[in-house]
Amino acid sequence: MTIAQIVGAVEEFAPCAYQESYDNAGLIVGNRQEEATGALLCLDVTERALQAAIDSHINLIISHHPVIFGGLKRLVGSNAVERIVQQAIKHDVALYAAHTNLDSVRGGVSEKMCDKLGLKNRSILQPVKSQLVKVAAYAPLAHAEAVRQAMFAAGAGCIGQYGSCSFSVPGTGTFLAGEQATPFAGKRGELHREAEEKVEVIAHESKVSGVVAAMRAVHPYEEVAYDLYPLLNEYPSVGLGMVGELEKSLEMGKFLHLVKQTFNNQSVKYVTSGRPEVRKVAVCGGSGSSLTDKALACGADAFVSADFKYHQLQEADGRITVVDVGHYESEIFAIEIFYEVITKKFPTFAPYLVKYAVNQISYL
Ligand SMILES: [Zn+2]
Repeated sequence: MTIAQIVGAVEEFAPCAYQESYDNAGLIVGNRQEEATGALLCLDVTERALQAAIDSHINLIISHHPVIFGGLKRLVGSNAVERIVQQAIKHDVALYAAHTNLDSVRGGVSEKMCDKLGLKNRSILQPVKSQLVKVAAYAPLAHAEAVRQAMFAAGAGCIGQYGSCSFSVPGTGTFLAGEQATPFAGKRGELHREAEEKVEVIAHESKVSGVVAAMRAVHPYEEVAYDLYPLLNEYPSVGLGMVGELEKSLEMGKFLHLVKQTFNNQSVKYVTSGRPEVRKVAVCGGSGSSLTDKALACGADAFVSADFKYHQLQEADGRITVVDVGHYESEIFAIEIFYEVITKKFPTFAPYLVKYAVNQISYL
């Protein structure tokens, strides 16, 4: 089993293309072609986590937070990040991170929070915008279905919980083949009319080149006519945070205790809306304070996330219940996601997996 195969399973689940522009997810140190001797799963690549991997002869660490985030200008061991990168290279340990891309997919960090809280009727809190492309391909009638299926197989046509979405309209194509052409239909130098079908699908921008290649591979024309339209639409399948509903309304005190228990908190920081019950709950793993207005706008009674500043909580007070469960506590389930994704794809790899979780923050 190569490192490429293991991290490939993670990327299939949470494509790197879904990461935020400021992020540094993906393979950070190492060589994809090397054999993986195991995988250590963690939230952060700490020096202790790296030592645990070295001691266990494990040459791949998969973390949620990228060890190199803001860039490195030198490697002289003057801080933990420099030492970790130096030691990882020295001991041939690959470092891989799935960060905001893991936050942004269905089944990712925020959806795990929904699982733990028992939320139903879930949707993405802040779907990404302007990342969808409409692909319109023109094919002779007898080949339209093959073209459609090829584009679906390459990842096009997904809208929310629906796959294989397309729209077709029949029409007439015209072309005049040049002297060097080998036309599929008609003759060189003669205007030809062909009954065609226009097949429209949408695809995330990261998949468009693959969709076009798959479409061209089954299309019979020498020169394939197709259009790519950038869309302003939201993409409901990808984005930060989630919102869902509790099975039944919970009295405020009970809800706060449920949150505290779910995220193993010794204590939680919170403000309340002043309303006595909670039913609709928004969540976001990690620093989600910028999504408070989104949570309010979608009618959530409560927002569970981390890293709220004093004034942000003040602003929310009386409008929406906000519970700060801690960054580590809200994201530690990322390890479970990695474990499930990898063992689902490679059941025999399981015995070599080591989970590693240490919160460096203490509460007194
Ligand atoms: Zn985080």
